[in-house]
Amino acid sequence: MGAATDTIAAIATPPGKGGIGIVRVSGPRTQAIAREVLRFLPSPRTAVRARFFDRTGDVIDDGLVLYFPAPGSFSGEDMLELHGHGGPVVLDMLLGRLLEAGARMARPGEFSERAFLNDKMDLAQAEAVADLIDSATQTAARGALRSLKGEFSERVNAIVDALVELRTYVEGAIDFPEDEIDFLAEGDLEARLATVMASLERLDSAAQQGCLLRDGVSVVIAGRPNVGKSSLLNRLSGRDAAIVTAIPGTTRDVLREYVHLDGLPVHVVDTAGLRSTDDPIEFEGVDRARREIREADVVLAMVDDREPELDDAEQLFAEIGPGPARLLARNKVDLSGNPPGLRSAGETVEVRISAKTGAGIEALKQCLKDCVGYREGAEGSFTARRRHREALASAMTHGERALTQLRGRREAELVAEDLRLMQRALGEITGAFSTEDLLDRIFSSFCIGK
Ligand code: GDP
Repeated sequence: MGAATDTIAAIATPPGKGGIGIVRVSGPRTQAIAREVLRFLPSPRTAVRARFFDRTGDVIDDGLVLYFPAPGSFSGEDMLELHGHGGPVVLDMLLGRLLEAGARMARPGEFSERAFLNDKMDLAQAEAVADLIDSATQTAARGALRSLKGEFSERVNAIVDALVELRTYVEGAIDFPEDEIDFLAEGDLEARLATVMASLERLDSAAQQGCLLRDGVSVVIAGRPNVGKSSLLNRLSGRDAAIVTAIPGTTRDVLREYVHLDGLPVHVVDTAGLRSTDDPIEFEGVDRARREIREADVVLAMVDDREPELDDAEQLFAEIGPGPARLLARNKVDLSGNPPGLRSAGETVEVRISAKTGAGIEALKQCLKDCVGYREGAEGSFTARRRHREALASAMTHGERALTQLRGRREAELVAEDLRLMQRALGEITGAFSTEDLLDRIFSSFCIGK
């Protein structure tokens, strides 16, 4: 891909007031813009005090500048950072001045996109920049940093290298059709591909943790009014977000809370009870509850432990379909007198708790982590995205097909094609294989100035 011909500029610090505000410039006109706005070109990679001049020679602001000549910059192009005072008006004036001097407004994620196009980082690393900024927990931030340093990409690339070797071998078989069958039977091809598949599976399992770290999980608490849903929400979030009252049917709207369990971000949704009702407002609440339940990762049905009737929970589980994981919480053990904690009862995981006293809450948290497959601490983990897992899944599908072929008729062309598609799927993760559409989708979700 050719180098960009235009020069982009954007405010890189968040909107609002701050001690310092930074405007970034990147592209071939950077030097000319510096000479015009600062009246000199600062020495490379050195913070220099400078005044920022408008067209008439008046000073807009007075601050620090940093100049990074290509290719030793974030984007790989000539870049300039102007550090001025962090007021929205000053920064707008400064940005306006840079546009007047020949830059254009950067699109969201355009600095990172250029860094990718100039081989400063691969696609998974560029995504990790955004994930680091957006991380919701410290574990997620550490994971994003590992991805940014290239740990995820290195594992992908190692698998690609092994695949390239296999492809060379198989494509050699196509060139000598008479020997094809023997050729493919030799060289431990099947065993080597099986090893690649095993690495892919391990990588996918790590990527699954990475997605959980990045996206978190959504848990819907559902159950009759007054069983203690709001109390549990408060218990999990550690503050009084939901209104707890003894009058059935208070939680008419959907309440959302955000907590983390050992680094796992959890979005908890407290829904209106699912009882049938004539009250139109409450009816709307019940309707919303159903919608939330369909989209949840985990549905936590809650009942009062004193009520032996499980009809509601059973009906709820029957209604939710195969998607979300199911947990049954029997609340108010302080009143029922039953021992708190985990209890396996057939297929459903049951936990006895008291939202009021906190008994059994730790066991419940552990169940939540278990049922989404979150491994505590997930040491050495990196952040990953859903699209990465989709690519890994596609690579594994093609790998399985190639294996089947190798175990069966061993048609070299078919094996070669699946290995090629496998490599292509993995290339989508790092951007070794990418389309404009994919890049657009990824970078347009970034902030301006990133
Ligand atoms: P929701 O309608 O399901 O959200 O239920 P709330 O959380 O509003 O609780 C209803 C009532 O039950 C309130 O008076 C709570 O204080 C009480 N409650 C909730 N959990 C417990 C518990 O574990 N033990 C006892 N004794 N009371 C509870």
